[in-house]
Amino acid sequence: MDQQKSILIIYTGGTIGMIKDPSTGLLKPFNFDNIYLQMPALKLLDHQIDSFCFEPVIDSSDMNPQHWGEIAQVIGDNYEKYDGFVVLHGSDTMAYTASALSFMLENLNKPVILTGSQLPLGMLRSDGRENFITSIEIAAAQEDDTPLVPEVAIYFENQLMRGNRTIKASAEHFEAFKSPNYPPLADVGVYIKYNKQFIRKPNFKKLKVQTAMNNDVAVMKLFPGISQGFVEAVLKTEGLKALVLETYGSGNALTEEWFLKSLEQHINKGLVVVNVTQCQSGSVDMEKYQTGILLHNIGVISGFDITTEAAVTKLMYLHGVYQDPQQVRQKFIRSIRGEMTNV
Ligand code: ASP
Repeated sequence: MDQQKSILIIYTGGTIGMIKDPSTGLLKPFNFDNIYLQMPALKLLDHQIDSFCFEPVIDSSDMNPQHWGEIAQVIGDNYEKYDGFVVLHGSDTMAYTASALSFMLENLNKPVILTGSQLPLGMLRSDGRENFITSIEIAAAQEDDTPLVPEVAIYFENQLMRGNRTIKASAEHFEAFKSPNYPPLADVGVYIKYNKQFIRKPNFKKLKVQTAMNNDVAVMKLFPGISQGFVEAVLKTEGLKALVLETYGSGNALTEEWFLKSLEQHINKGLVVVNVTQCQSGSVDMEKYQTGILLHNIGVISGFDITTEAAVTKLMYLHGVYQDPQQVRQKFIRSIRGEMTNV
């Protein structure tokens, strides 16, 4: 039998802990104490479980970089006391939070498992119970006194995924998340099968919590017919430091002169522009088509197979750490937490 482990549950809100407001009929988050009422089985787990509840608890649509800082800080403050952490979170922005935490927690050597559910715990068919219990088991799992998953991950519907590789792919299936460009860290059925070759190895260095995030970041999704006025309005946003450009296919964009000129001018003034594909899977390769190489030539950098969620939060993190756009560019093009595959 495994030795008892200590786990801290950080409850931020989300459907998992929601109830129907009798007056409006809408779902809203409730206080964490009710989670024990809904799930008495929690007390049967062979681990020491403590909880930290956000005040107020939120629908994850209200998540922001300050909340990420608070979650990271709670983990940092309690790092020595616990073997692992489970963050209960709404699924809507969970991929952003998981990505952000992966950057903010440098030298993470313990599991931080985010989970939630599509149906509230109180509902009979809820997917929350299994997600929650298995996340605790994963956060507690060790081999030779070393955590099996020393990274930020999302557990949802039988799959453990690297957090900064995930996207929310379904608004209604229990299988809400996908990790299109990276294999699952564990597959869960009767057994929890860890795919150890894909899990980051602990580096045993001291945890460094970086909470400063700079949100002078924008995302622009290209579409046929995108107007000059719109593109220029985005590029002229006051204080804008970075732009995630969601391009077509393997990193292709329109070749009209006004578009390339505007981008180039802003890049020359220090704007960091990252090329991310609109496709769910696969990688940007700007050297494949004429339409891609033009972006490369004006100084757009490749996001390779990074998700938009990870690109946005990585840029916020890097601009929180470095003042010089050149340094941000240099750091961006290398994977720092396993968030992209450099080719
Ligand atoms: N709107 C909810 C949230 O993200 C959805 C969920 O939890 O699945 O907080």
